[in-house]
Amino acid sequence: MNKWEENKSLKPFNTFGFEAKARYFATPDSTEGIEETLETCRKNSIPVFILGGGSNVVFSKDFDGLVLCPRTDRISISRKCMESRTLVVSAGVVWDDFVRYTVENNLMGVENLSGIPGTVGAAPVQNIGAYGMEAKDSIYALFGIMIDDGQPFFMENRDCKFTYRSSIFKNELKWKAIITRVAFKLAKGRRFKIEREDLQEELRKYGTINLSSIRQSILNLRAAKLPDPGELGNAGSFFKNPVVEQAEADRLLELFPSMPVYSASTFDDKVKLSAGWMIENCSLKGYRENNIGVYDRQALVLVNYGGGTANELILFSRMVQDRVFEKFGVKIEPEVDIV
Ligand SMILES: Cc1cc2nc3c(=O)[nH]c(=O)nc-3n(C[C@H](O)[C@H](O)[C@H](O)COP(=O)(O)OP(=O)(O)OC[C@H]3O[C@@H](n4cnc5c(N)ncnc54)[C@H](O)[C@@H]3O)c2cc1C
Repeated sequence: MNKWEENKSLKPFNTFGFEAKARYFATPDSTEGIEETLETCRKNSIPVFILGGGSNVVFSKDFDGLVLCPRTDRISISRKCMESRTLVVSAGVVWDDFVRYTVENNLMGVENLSGIPGTVGAAPVQNIGAYGMEAKDSIYALFGIMIDDGQPFFMENRDCKFTYRSSIFKNELKWKAIITRVAFKLAKGRRFKIEREDLQEELRKYGTINLSSIRQSILNLRAAKLPDPGELGNAGSFFKNPVVEQAEADRLLELFPSMPVYSASTFDDKVKLSAGWMIENCSLKGYRENNIGVYDRQALVLVNYGGGTANELILFSRMVQDRVFEKFGVKIEPEVDIV
């Protein structure tokens, strides 16, 4: 039986650094330990919340149940082909440790996702993405367990319903399943995704383009524009970029000709707008109310300057949403999971 802690402070386990307590807290380090923990919760009708690195959650109140943090940490090669490798990675592996492993082993497919905080188990939940790459491009399948009845499941990529910052685990299966392992299919090759201008410019400093220089360039770019949660509480982008019909984008472009519009690969007939640009254009970049504010180097990021509460953050985020809606008529939605 895993040791359960009681009345555990979640402050060190969420990157905003907000105080909230979990009635119970467990960190099983094996799939059997996870199964056992879930079974005990089922038998005793204890609600369960799965927590990875806490880099995309806001605890708005204490959690009257068990917070389960998987601490499983295996990376194994399940299949080798001439051109690819399939790796099966446990949920508790730190995402960036996995990315570093792939780069060191010359495996291509997640290098642009370097430096994203959190765990491998959470990566499929919101289909993490950065620098033109998304987790869904490399995820082959998932293994998990249903929380309600303990049924194990295997889910192929196409059944995960991946879209921009979303998946089945943010919708039908929200808080209902735990992902225990993720299988990634990674290529041995040299077809890099380096179209972005800022990435190309950073890469020039290295003189050579390979997985290591791409990873290092991305780590540099991220460090320059994103706050380190160890110094300033945040969860990365607080809002998703809105995905709208082309006609809606055209309407806005007439009013705001310099507004950036991107193609939204997973929504054929729609386009993506920049929530950060909209927030900045409402003069909110760097704006602060007490301990909560919009980060001054990236308007999509909300920060806790220290001493802020989750409720302050939620009220502040609604103010930002309202201001954007008043100016652009577009609703921006939070990317973070508010618990
Ligand atoms: C500075 C900073 C930069 C960031 N940059 C990016 C970025 O570039 N791109 C991007 O996409 N995101 C980014 N993020 C957001 C965040 O890092 C990712 O969403 C990450 O995948 C969250 O992982 P986590 O382990 O911390 O998940 P948590 O925050 O612990 O959990 C997030 C959600 O996933 C669920 N969950 C966690 N683990 C599991 C599991 N094993 N099974 C089922 N459900 C689970 C939780 O219940 C919760 O709903 C950033 C965050 C920060 C703080």
